[in-house]
Amino acid sequence: MELSGEELTGGESQMQELAALVQKTTRSCSWWERHGVDWACLILALSVTPAGFLLLHSDRFVLLCLGILLLGAAHTVVSVKGSHLASHNSLSQSKFWNKLWAVLFIEVCGSFTAEIGTYNHVKLHHAYTNVIGLGDSSTWKAPFFPRYIYLFILPLAVPVITPIVAIGLIQDQPMTTAIRTLSAITLGMWVHCWFLMHVSGFQSLLSAFLCMLFYKAIYSIPYIHVNIFQHIGLAMFSPTKKPKRIYQMAYGVLNLPRNMLLDWSFGHSIINCHVEHHLFPTLSDNMCLKVKPIVSKYFKQHNIPYNEDNYLSRLRLFIDKYEELMVNAPQLTELVGIQ
Ligand SMILES: [Zn+2]
Repeated sequence: MELSGEELTGGESQMQELAALVQKTTRSCSWWERHGVDWACLILALSVTPAGFLLLHSDRFVLLCLGILLLGAAHTVVSVKGSHLASHNSLSQSKFWNKLWAVLFIEVCGSFTAEIGTYNHVKLHHAYTNVIGLGDSSTWKAPFFPRYIYLFILPLAVPVITPIVAIGLIQDQPMTTAIRTLSAITLGMWVHCWFLMHVSGFQSLLSAFLCMLFYKAIYSIPYIHVNIFQHIGLAMFSPTKKPKRIYQMAYGVLNLPRNMLLDWSFGHSIINCHVEHHLFPTLSDNMCLKVKPIVSKYFKQHNIPYNEDNYLSRLRLFIDKYEELMVNAPQLTELVGIQ
């Protein structure tokens, strides 16, 4: 895989040196390593959904719970991992197929808008990571809610809030895009409800719709947690005075440890290879995992910080310092001397 121009001309020799090391590895990898492993994960998630709907037909509580867990996990894999990879064009080398996957994963599965979702994530969050007012993860803050409500109750509303926000956002889009997005979101929800009524045996559309919201919500607590844990509380920069790219990502991004459940449902690039993902955003999840030892070794050799912390430690930090991190404006970091 060729790294993009932006990745190679990050503005400084260390970034170029690291990119060359990474590219040496990525070039020698097969299609299976570059895309196949992640596709296998997405296809596996889609293929367990019939079993999930069938299990919901059962009268046994254990089987019902298993069905909910299977459907929740499958939904998270396609709508988080799939959408994220699609937004970075990491699922294919073809522009046409990437666009199609973005509509499928972000709109049909994720109930959001492909254009605005991609723009906000790639053009703002990635280009201006931790830059105040641009890529500072402020979309994940809701300072008017108390800490425990924000961290443990509010995330459950993500499946309801997501399509409502999408409908609000598409009003500024061209008519054809707005109609396509609205149709894709409706189609996605209709498919869930159809299977719940015709395979799982739900008697009414309302009960099927509520069940869909329930299993879509089971991963939304860690989803919100992970989104805030890996940037908020780290160095923040001003738009006029941000460090070189390699330092911006080193200081403003954090990796969580490997966790099988989160790695495979959200993707390595969101969990344990977030630093690598911010340095080389077009690499797939499996390729981020592959280049992780190269990046961490390079950072250590050049005394560049490599932020890592575990889930519970970050959770404790956000509970203890909720006011400071999530309510009050973050402090700017002046990285004098290393720009
Ligand atoms: Zn990303």
